[in-house]
Amino acid sequence: MKKNILIVPGDGIGQEVTAVGKKVLDKIAAKFNHQFNYDEALIGHVAIEATGNPLPDESLEKMKKSDAVLFGAVGHPKYDNDPSAKVRPEQGLLKMRKELGLYANLRPIKLFDELLSASSIKPEILKGADILFFRELTGDVYFGKRERIDGGNTAYDTMIYSKFEVERIARRAFDAAMTRGKKLMSVDKANVLESSRLWRETILEVAKDYPEVELEHQFVDAAAMILIKDPKRFDVVVTGNLFGDILTDEASQIAGSMGMLASASIGDGTGVYEPIHGSAHDITGKGVANPLASILSAALLLDISFGLKEESNAVINAVDAVLKAGFRTRDIADATTPADKILGTTAMGEEVLSRL
Ligand code: NAD
Repeated sequence: MKKNILIVPGDGIGQEVTAVGKKVLDKIAAKFNHQFNYDEALIGHVAIEATGNPLPDESLEKMKKSDAVLFGAVGHPKYDNDPSAKVRPEQGLLKMRKELGLYANLRPIKLFDELLSASSIKPEILKGADILFFRELTGDVYFGKRERIDGGNTAYDTMIYSKFEVERIARRAFDAAMTRGKKLMSVDKANVLESSRLWRETILEVAKDYPEVELEHQFVDAAAMILIKDPKRFDVVVTGNLFGDILTDEASQIAGSMGMLASASIGDGTGVYEPIHGSAHDITGKGVANPLASILSAALLLDISFGLKEESNAVINAVDAVLKAGFRTRDIADATTPADKILGTTAMGEEVLSRL
């Protein structure tokens, strides 16, 4: 198979982990006889520094022309400490999602058995949990009208959804439920919010086309509670942008670390694959970032954008084997991990590569 992959490392540890994700794609190409051609593009703080724009047109054009994007993260302390900055790295991220029509963010929450003890939740509650989140990505308060009024002393953001936006992500989630346990939980706040009432109405309409799927509705506050109390109750979950943002970070604790979770952002064009974590200023440049989320993002890319299931599974199995061999990065190590098994970013990547 011949494909063009765009590498977009972005900022901070995005640079460090994406380099490892790319090596894994390279190894897969060699092993399975594919030809992957690579190009690179700027986004975020590095793009602002180079061009003044968090997503230069050139980057966007390259994204649109590529078959898939392996993305890192954006962010820099400079902007976190200055909320008034007009040009910001995350504007590049939001623009990329909007321009590429990436309306569905898939976040598989799968726990490797070896990491049961790395989670803050009891192993007996966790074992066997396997959740697939569908977070809507191009609507909600992130894109609604916002304003400061009353001389800057009052502010509002608009939570807004149109029926077609709910319908298209609902179909993706129902389709996925059909290939898994045929259970779908829709999360909203329909007891309070009008946009959530539209959300629920639309989900119910789409459900008529999927009679085999057992549909459950939960309010977001209850869902947040059940996620900790009984994570095995979830199979596929579909929710809006804001609720999804919060719930998937909560769910990342099930997997033990942000450094373990991958995501796919898909729409009708190029798909973007990225770790769920940010640019992690606190560990940038130290060589200790966990590259496994980027490696697992590469696995999602192979599966979803290229339909290469066997290749994707080979990557996941290699990660599993490395964990079984006892290797850990600092974020997933615990008091029982021997010092010689605690690896940095590059060494962890090499362990995965050697098992491919
Ligand atoms: P973060 O995800 O960058 O880090 C949260 C914590 O998890 C930190 O302690 C970090 O060291 C740790 N961590 C994250 N990824 C790790 C990895 N691979 N290995 C080991 N430890 C890891 O979130 P934050 O600290 O809230 O934000 C830092 C910056 O990232 C901010 O500028 C924020 O705006 C940005 N951000 C970007 C994205 C994105 O690009 N998708 C997402 C979230 C945050």
